[in-house]
Amino acid sequence: MLSDMETKKCYVCGKIPLSKDEIGLTKKIINKDATAFYCLPCLAEYLEVTEEELIAKIEEFKEEGCTLFK
Ligand SMILES: [Zn+2]
Repeated sequence: MLSDMETKKCYVCGKIPLSKDEIGLTKKIINKDATAFYCLPCLAEYLEVTEEELIAKIEEFKEEGCTLFK
């Protein structure tokens, strides 16, 4: 079982666990020291963009070699 420190849940809907991509994207877009994380649908709503746009962003960041997605 994961400890609370390691288990991230969505701040809005409570989805658990969040994927590496969701955690990485929250850190990259909101704050690298973020303590509240968002799942993809909630982050899309928060930022007023589509999930597809976020997925494209994740791919972009990965291509840049962003360490948050490794
Ligand atoms: Zn959510």
